[in-house]
Amino acid sequence: PIILGIESSCDDTSAAIIQGKKILSNVVSTQKIHQDYGGVVPELASRVHLQNIVPVVHQAIQLANINKKAIDAISFTRGPGLLGSLLVGTSFAKSLSMSLNVPLIEVNHMQGHIFAHFIEEDEKKNICFPFLCLTVSGGHTQIVKVNDYFDMEVLGETLDDAAGEAFDKIGKLMGLEYPAGPMIDNLSQIGNKDKFKFPLPKLKGIKFSFSGIKTSVLYFIQKEVEKNPNFIKDNLEDLCASVQKTIISALLDKIKLAIKITGIKNVAIAGGVSANSELRREIIKLESDLNCKTFIPKFEYTTDNAAMIAVVGSIKYEHHKFSDLKTVATARYKI
Ligand code: ATP
Ligand code: FE
Repeated sequence: PIILGIESSCDDTSAAIIQGKKILSNVVSTQKIHQDYGGVVPELASRVHLQNIVPVVHQAIQLANINKKAIDAISFTRGPGLLGSLLVGTSFAKSLSMSLNVPLIEVNHMQGHIFAHFIEEDEKKNICFPFLCLTVSGGHTQIVKVNDYFDMEVLGETLDDAAGEAFDKIGKLMGLEYPAGPMIDNLSQIGNKDKFKFPLPKLKGIKFSFSGIKTSVLYFIQKEVEKNPNFIKDNLEDLCASVQKTIISALLDKIKLAIKITGIKNVAIAGGVSANSELRREIIKLESDLNCKTFIPKFEYTTDNAAMIAVVGSIKYEHHKFSDLKTVATARYKI
């Protein structure tokens, strides 16, 4: 089938066309307006989605080089996310499905991040069930046991901030623009990650916490800036590398624990933070260290994109899982 996927849960307006599991187009329009505010402003986000949705969908159809009448179904992000943002994608998907007279397919955004692994699957390197997925993004940090396409179990998640949120908030403390994750990753390449030590959360079981790391970086920076007003500028790369190391090792500790508890050795990562170069390296190391099979998503399918929403649509279509027009956008929506 040919599916149009629509994603609008946060600050990216995106549309993609997929045929089977092959992506024909994937257009992502990232909203720049939030940079001035150091974080996403929900009211502004929904307004920009409204402006972007028609041109973004139009461009996806054009780039895929198809006629819109060739679309067999429309999949869209129902939640979780910002309600105003979700409403734009949901209402647009519903109206287009009515006018084209094709079925609607609702998608859970977090399931979408995980399903990014099924895009253009290579038969030989197929990810096989069950697998563990460390889903790390701007709003979530979870370890999910994926038994099958539609059978997923959250083994544990964060008690406070998400990993991406920790990158962004700590970056803001250091004066970096939103979202700071990619910048911290870049600056870390030339920094010394052992220069500064920040405490890791001491949590039993599969649970995460990042607010403590954030607070300890805040107090540390405040103390040092009193002595040297240029402390951040003078040490930016080393600060970034040390912060990144702390966040990534907190993630690694718990994925290792989940491997030990479940005995599952197929390990995947997903979500925006799975773009992080150190996390990618460390996960691949589990192959030699713990004899795991690891799965790293393509870079362009880590942060928000509609290709991942389209691939869920494609797989749900095959399983006849359709939604009706009464489906509503749902800000808090569990997988
Ligand atoms: P959610 O998926 O939980 O609803 P979201 O959709 O806002 O949240 P994503 O787009 O999946 O989040 O991910 C964005 C997050 O990923 C941001 O916090 C960003 O800083 C982080 N991120 C992106 N690239 C990197 C990187 N290279 N290193 C670290 N963090 C990164
Ligand atoms: Fe996301």
